[in-house]
Amino acid sequence: MAPRTIMDVDDKSLEGKRVLVRVDFNVSVSNGSVGEDYRIRMAIPTIEYLSRRGAKVILASHLGRPDGRDPDYTLAPVARRLQDIAGGAGIRVRFASDCVGPAVESEISQMGRGDILLLENLRFYKEEEANDGEFCKKLARQADIYVNDAFSTSHRKHASTFGAARLFDMRLAGFNLNKEVEYLSMMREKPPKPFKVIVGGVKIKDKIGALENLLPKADKVIVGGAVAYTFLMAKGVKTGKSLIDHERLPWAEKALAKYADKIMLPTDHVTAQSPADTSIMMVKGDIPDGMAGFDIGSETIEHFSEEVSRSNGAGMIFWNGPMGMFELRAFANGTINIAKSLALAYWRGAKTLVGGGDTLAALKKSGVAENEVSHVSTGGGASLRYLAGDEMPGLSVLDIK
Ligand code: ADP
Ligand code: MG
Repeated sequence: MAPRTIMDVDDKSLEGKRVLVRVDFNVSVSNGSVGEDYRIRMAIPTIEYLSRRGAKVILASHLGRPDGRDPDYTLAPVARRLQDIAGGAGIRVRFASDCVGPAVESEISQMGRGDILLLENLRFYKEEEANDGEFCKKLARQADIYVNDAFSTSHRKHASTFGAARLFDMRLAGFNLNKEVEYLSMMREKPPKPFKVIVGGVKIKDKIGALENLLPKADKVIVGGAVAYTFLMAKGVKTGKSLIDHERLPWAEKALAKYADKIMLPTDHVTAQSPADTSIMMVKGDIPDGMAGFDIGSETIEHFSEEVSRSNGAGMIFWNGPMGMFELRAFANGTINIAKSLALAYWRGAKTLVGGGDTLAALKKSGVAENEVSHVSTGGGASLRYLAGDEMPGLSVLDIK
């Protein structure tokens, strides 16, 4: 069988080779300095694994959505942060002022074994997103081996995720991409039972495909956040002026009819006239006109927490979407309690997965440590697409289903 991950390749085949690694260094940069840098730290295992085996590690990433070569979107600050983290001990981290072309090629020809070179923003070329044939060739001829460690971009058919990758004989998954696929495929194909899904947040549109696939497999689907109000309205409960996705009401109705015994909905709510409103009202059942639900109520917290934290040492729980508007202290209780219950389930032996940009922020805010979750899915939208069974060009090019 052809090697699939960097671990499947013997060390000798990496030594002295130029390895192009697609990473996701799409971090926030302000005033020339990197803010949250977990995406850089996350790439360290793959980068150092290759570097220690004598590969010449060429890193490629996009940053933001620049319109051409816009200096505001340079990866130079990322290179500096990477130097701080990975440099030293004889390892040089260099930054190339471009991602393709003669200057880059000459820079690469001067690389020594174990050296690390970060290429400039791929999206300085519109050819990257257009998956342009010539651009793909230019990228590919700069290296001998292709590695993708950016699961979050694998739903895209871009040059660096697809077209250029195809031109390599050896195409491999990095550690992060591999781990993400391992967990998500387990959940999509054959989740350990009992399998529970916790869904919340607002964006039903983005989650519906994944839910379609997970609902039949799940033993329980716990619904909170704004998503719950669309379900409650579909059930005929009064929702006041809570956020509703009217377009998806018929879908919610159908899901309720088909999976009535699986779906758990909130029975009480923390309501207010608006998020800024300081006079908060606890409501059981129907929400009065003029009020909106911004968090699950205490009775619901009790029911949900009991269901989430109960575990006989087996099974899997997937959480995507906060239970309320957790950014505001007044509406954070539901989310914090669910995060803690999930951590308890983990300690009792369940496999737990958390995904979604806001959900990860909420987890952090809840004081649950990263090692109290089996897998923190950083794939964002790509993870939901994968769970929905959508086409993933960046994975198929690695022969991953
Ligand atoms: P994720 O990024 O984890 O996938 P979403 O983007 O779908 O999650 O939703 C997150 C947002 O949902 C948060 O900003 C939160 O404030 C909001 N939210 C959660 N519950 C409610 C609610 N009842 N009413 C309005 N907004 C809500
Ligand atoms: Mg979000």
